[in-house]
Amino acid sequence: MALLVQKFGGTSVGSVERIQAVARRIAACKEDGNDLVIVVSAMGHTTDELTAKARAISSNPPQREMDMLLATGEQVSIALLSMALHALGVPAISMTGAQVGIVTESAHGRARILDVRTDRLRSRLAEGQVVVVAGFQGTSQSSGGTAEITTLGRGGSDTSAVALAAALGADACEIYTDVPGVLTTDPRKVADAQLMPEVSCDEMLELASLGAAVLHPRAVEIARNYGVTMVVRSSWSEDAGTTLTSRSARPIGRDGLELGRPVDGAELVEGQAVLALSHVSDQPGVAAQLFESLSAGGVNVDLIIQSTHEGNSNDITFTVAESELEKARGICADQLQTLGGELVAEAGMSKLSISGAGIMGRPGIAAGLFQTLSRVGINLRLIATSEVKVSCVVEASAGAKALQATQDAFELESDLISLNPLPSGEGDPEVRGIALDRDQAQVSVRHVPDKPGTAGALCNALADAGISLDGIVQSERQHADGSRDISFTLKRDDRAAADRALSHLLAQWPGALLEDGPAIARVSAVGAGMPATAGTAGRMFRYLADAGVNIEMIATSEIRTSCVVAESDGIAALQAVHTGFELGGSTRHQAQGTESPLES
Ligand code: ADP
Ligand code: ASP
Ligand code: MG
Repeated sequence: MALLVQKFGGTSVGSVERIQAVARRIAACKEDGNDLVIVVSAMGHTTDELTAKARAISSNPPQREMDMLLATGEQVSIALLSMALHALGVPAISMTGAQVGIVTESAHGRARILDVRTDRLRSRLAEGQVVVVAGFQGTSQSSGGTAEITTLGRGGSDTSAVALAAALGADACEIYTDVPGVLTTDPRKVADAQLMPEVSCDEMLELASLGAAVLHPRAVEIARNYGVTMVVRSSWSEDAGTTLTSRSARPIGRDGLELGRPVDGAELVEGQAVLALSHVSDQPGVAAQLFESLSAGGVNVDLIIQSTHEGNSNDITFTVAESELEKARGICADQLQTLGGELVAEAGMSKLSISGAGIMGRPGIAAGLFQTLSRVGINLRLIATSEVKVSCVVEASAGAKALQATQDAFELESDLISLNPLPSGEGDPEVRGIALDRDQAQVSVRHVPDKPGTAGALCNALADAGISLDGIVQSERQHADGSRDISFTLKRDDRAAADRALSHLLAQWPGALLEDGPAIARVSAVGAGMPATAGTAGRMFRYLADAGVNIEMIATSEIRTSCVVAESDGIAALQAVHTGFELGGSTRHQAQGTESPLES
């Protein structure tokens, strides 16, 4: 007998027949002697339909009223599912988020969960009832003291389920959906995507935040932080699905369930070198040729960044271990003979990183790191951001000071700090999955001053407005006045807010202006074995080049490589990279369409 939290998504409860099928499944599981807390989403496309109605009335409806409206969707499902269970003779009771006591922040539309009261749930379970809880919603206290309905953000029922499992100490949290589990990529975009039997929480966090919408990233964050066993499987079959594994777990502290310390490690890797190529010709295949020749020469490249091009040339910057600098320099010099451009190589660098879960989902964290370093006068040579890690390359002489300032700023105990750790990922797959995100926009800030703190100030201004950025790159080339350009990507929905957030800052920088890039898509490869495998990035660039796709921007982090491509190339890029890394093939399971999921 086990205590299980099971979550059924919108398609799984999309019709009366589906609700009855889910009820039969729950009844059988209860019959086996399990205690069950069930979390459900709104039926089918209800949340989209409610949103469309609101937009038809107002282009900017009050967030509080949006939450009032959207929370009704889940309330319909819980009542109907409880009725279906009663009809099967299974004692069940439905509860809203407020009735359970899912206490959240007051931020409407994106509230984080602070606490899950378990007493009401436990007493119902003790009575032998199946408790059916509305996902995606909670309750907060308004400033006037009234209880307010909040929602957690689109896709948030996953987060409700994992939070309940963490608070209850459940044996597992099972996410039932319309695909067989987490696949190597979205089966709606690549037909031969394959099931992953296992994926680590770190890999899943990267994939989810880079566009794999099968799980809400915040749900994975909770599973990782509190060690919840999580399974993703089809509600149409008995197949085992995907199990998420996590290395670390910690008890739920008093800071708030979803607010607990997001940074749980810092490290410094010494002996790094930076190679910066500028004015390289911009055509498909350049990055492939360069990184393939480095890999063929036995050079293991760590971080890679390629910024937006001005005119028809590119800047590509990357890091290697100092011991490989001379070899890398020679290979680059050879390549530049055909590609054109200039090379600057510098040894004497260190890489400082912070790690955790949900770092980019909380834009204040990266901004806080950059500001901390600028406050102690440290210039950032290169920045790499991701959901589980933020790294900056700094002068070696500043390394120790940078690590100390970081440790202090994030209040990290000394056992969370490491100096020159061994590369991780030995034995893990170099690429586990590929994600495509078509909701990003590319922007450049032209003419920013070349001094410590510039990138930090940008991130901070955006963070204050709740905006995360990705793939931030400072150009190698300088304008005649000594200023540089900084490029990054952000969520398309945040683009207008970014103008407002940055206006004050840009006014302080003479000549600075925000410029939009072309419409883009971002394709990303994620794998825990990437740090331990040479040549992954070069191979990815080759697959894109062979498909005739030009790469606009490159940003890597420890376990991911992302390429920004033209929006119209997005699907072709996803397919090329998925096939290239041999992730497709004979699929055991067929993906199920939204309208008519297949019985298996
Ligand atoms: P639910 O309503 O059950 O929460 P979602 O629509 O939120 O379902 O998530 C399931 C969908 O996620 C799938 O139908 C699939 O199209 C999409 N998806 C995107 N990336 C992946 C992936 N890597 N593996 C599986 N599904 C994915
Ligand atoms: N119904 C909500 C949505 O569609 C929450 C969820 O399904 O997870 O976003
Ligand atoms: Mg979902």
